Amino acid sequence: MVKFARPTGFQRELRKAVDEYFSATGLPRRDVPAMYLKSAVILCWCALSYWLLVFVVTEWYQAVPLCLSLAFGLAGIGFNIQHDGNHDAYSNSPFINSLMGSTLDLVGGSSYLWRIKHNVIHHTYTNIVGVDTDIDLEPLAHLTDGPPPRRIHRLQFLYLWFFYGFLAVKWHWFDDFRDLLRRRMGVSSFARPKRWETVRLFSGKIVLFCLMFVIPLTQHSFGTVIVFYIITTFVLGLLLSVVFQLAHCVEETSFKNAENRMGDWAIHQVETTTNFARRSRLLTWYFGGLNYQIEHHLFPKICHLHYPALSPLVEQICVKFGVRYSSQETFSAALGSHYRLLRSKALS
Ligand SMILES: [Zn+2]
Repeated sequence: MVKFARPTGFQRELRKAVDEYFSATGLPRRDVPAMYLKSAVILCWCALSYWLLVFVVTEWYQAVPLCLSLAFGLAGIGFNIQHDGNHDAYSNSPFINSLMGSTLDLVGGSSYLWRIKHNVIHHTYTNIVGVDTDIDLEPLAHLTDGPPPRRIHRLQFLYLWFFYGFLAVKWHWFDDFRDLLRRRMGVSSFARPKRWETVRLFSGKIVLFCLMFVIPLTQHSFGTVIVFYIITTFVLGLLLSVVFQLAHCVEETSFKNAENRMGDWAIHQVETTTNFARRSRLLTWYFGGLNYQIEHHLFPKICHLHYPALSPLVEQICVKFGVRYSSQETFSAALGSHYRLLRSKALS
């Protein structure tokens, strides 16, 4: 059992600074009007791309850009709407959080299993080898300082990008069912879901199956549907994998071995996480604050639209307490760092 030490002055000072920010500005932590508008834009983006793709266009050169648009829109739901909803960061209303969290079920993943895997396991035990399932890609790839790499891992910097593309398909049709049957993720077991959660999980899978196969098959041939399903889910998987990897699996972040007693939880979060492209308004809008992962890991129940304003406060306190605050200037710099990590860990 991994346990963290009592909060230190670092954690208390962070909370104080954030509390002062909200009382000084009078802004709400959740139920931010811009977040509702953003959600509407992303949902309309997905619906329009899907409608044009399935019911309107007839030529492949029109369909391929629409597949890309749909994949980017679906990833946008993942980065923004479901992520805030499932963290209870969207609203003060549990119903609205649950509704927004359910957008994940709508696009294929189980929100119930996500909350266990992401909110509990990943957010608590970030980058702890053998516990955080997000960093365990064995035997396909070797990302940590854990057991020695295999010979094949020397090529992971080349082939892993291709396999990232299959994340969404594997998650939708295999991982969720495997986890549900085992009631275990890595070393962490979990309770049987309530009946309502089971209904939501299976309803989501049925809706996904209808959206991806049943409805398109009323308009197009089987081969066409499969080809465009593969293109869409490949781009979706690649996007989701890369954006999540850039926050924790880069040269600047550290991996920890499970010890009975870890240090301050907040210091652990900062040391195992990095930001990127903080000055890009477009990427910050689209990634839903996933490029401000340090602030997200410290304050997951605050709407992500506040992270750019909180970031300098957090950075200042990190400097004061001598805690390394890492941030890549650009998206491509973070990508390069992940690439170098894939090379170096294969040789460690
Ligand atoms: Zn999160």
